[in-house]
Amino acid sequence: MSTHPSPDETPLAASVVRAAGVAIGAGQPVRVIAGPCSVESAEQFREAAAAAKAAGAALLRGGAFKPRTSPYSFQGLGERGLAIMRGVADDLGMGVVTEALSADDVPMIARSADMIQIGARNMDNAFLLDEVADAGKPILLKRGMAASVPEVLAAADRIVARGNDQVVICERGGRTFEPAVRNSLDIAAIPEVKRRSSYPVIADPSHGTGRWDLVTPVALAAVAAGADGLIVEIHPDPESALSDGAQSLRPDRFAALMEAVRRTAAAVGRAP
Ligand code: PEP
Ligand code: MN
Repeated sequence: MSTHPSPDETPLAASVVRAAGVAIGAGQPVRVIAGPCSVESAEQFREAAAAAKAAGAALLRGGAFKPRTSPYSFQGLGERGLAIMRGVADDLGMGVVTEALSADDVPMIARSADMIQIGARNMDNAFLLDEVADAGKPILLKRGMAASVPEVLAAADRIVARGNDQVVICERGGRTFEPAVRNSLDIAAIPEVKRRSSYPVIADPSHGTGRWDLVTPVALAAVAAGADGLIVEIHPDPESALSDGAQSLRPDRFAALMEAVRRTAAAVGRAP
């Protein structure tokens, strides 16, 4: 006898997800999550977070565990990075989103994060999805770079079937034949995920393009296509960033993005 829940016994996903008091999803304003790719130091994170808050971001982001494939790349500050983010977020009265890469780390990350990110490389890591579901925190699930819409929905459903209905899906682009961009963000996936499900959907124009000069136009396209929010990488000095500097916005450019997002949201009749 199968012990799997059948689709008609599976609890429904929430259409509004709440992280640190911020509601993301149906009927809510466009929510922007912003911060550096990696936490590099307390000063760097504080500066980025202050810029995020000043421009109107709803939540902070930052990476503490960055085990990138090349052993020569920056690997992240680990637990110290988590502590930095928690301290700065508390000082600013904001919530923070950060990624869990291994099931073993989930309880530690859950103690510091208000929302746990599952990265594109781990979207189909079923045991990690189970562990993060059990942590009881809202989850930002990034679509894998070669995952179809049904596949990302299956990963989200796995979390919900496990008893955690607080899942936001993030479109972050996939690897294509186009060399001009790091990834090609799939705008059509935003309304398609919404047509097939009730999950809130946000877009990541930073990883979705790999280029800071393309971040704002693609962010606006995502908002026009119905995204419930955005996640954007910013850095006080992108040229010196230890990861993803080429796609990180300077604080002044991020403030301009936020203005443009507000105008676009109003133009397409989204909640203020
Ligand atoms: C990130 O958000 O820092 C990240 C690594 O994203 P992705 O998993 O989409 O590559
Ligand atoms: Mn990054």
